[in-house]
Amino acid sequence: MGSITLSKVSKTFGEAKVIPSIDLEINDGEFVVFVGPSGCGKSTLLRLIAGLEDVTGGQIKIDGRDVTDAAPAERGLAMVFQSYALYPHMSVRKNIAFPLKMAKMEQSAIDKKVADAAHILNLTDYLERRPGQLSGGQRQRVAIGRAIVREPSAFLFDEPLSNLDAALRGTMRLEISDLHNQLKTTMVYVTHDQIEAMTMADKIVVLNRGNIEQVGSPLELYKSPRNLFVAGFIGSPK
Ligand code: ADP
Ligand code: MG
Repeated sequence: MGSITLSKVSKTFGEAKVIPSIDLEINDGEFVVFVGPSGCGKSTLLRLIAGLEDVTGGQIKIDGRDVTDAAPAERGLAMVFQSYALYPHMSVRKNIAFPLKMAKMEQSAIDKKVADAAHILNLTDYLERRPGQLSGGQRQRVAIGRAIVREPSAFLFDEPLSNLDAALRGTMRLEISDLHNQLKTTMVYVTHDQIEAMTMADKIVVLNRGNIEQVGSPLELYKSPRNLFVAGFIGSPK
């Protein structure tokens, strides 16, 4: 569970061909980072996978199933938004439980799932607080908790740490990597931060103007950048 295949995926907004054509294979359990400069199409590509945007052309498969025309909720994925997407008037418990309530899950099952997620994320002692009473890192963990309880086949992150300070970003990088080690669920993570890409990824996808410049492990990209763009962005100079 958790493989994602893009075949000739393209996206046009009006006249702008933001994604000309992308082929990409994401394997089950992989931590894949989309990296590239601002405006290169990272968020668009993630939103196409999530189903928040319709593709202009091409095909998307999740676990072998064609989901190109499937609604977001039918794709079995969880998108982690930045921490400000929490409900400020609800407790941590209710924020995490929210997707399960919406799915009309039985209360005892909800309680169990929330307790499990809180345990994984070290939020057990904070369940009755409101988001405003938490640190930035704790709020980010609540946002992740809300994704975990749905047991998605993959997590999609769009620059989840971009509005945290540098010290907290470092901590959260480790926490998300640790979460991946615990859950072993596919994660697709968008960032423009080379350090995040190099330290978190099993596989890095370097994007430039909607095209893939190179795909490889952090070490491969560092040692053998295919061109000057990749070298300048991530590797040592060629
Ligand atoms: P990134 O996340 O890498 O910064 P985006 O995927 O947000 O880049 O944007 C890629 C390009 O597509 C940008 O030029 C942006 O202006 C354009 N774009 C994104 N979303 C829309 C939209 N809904 N309508 C028109 N243009 C868009
Ligand atoms: Mg973006």
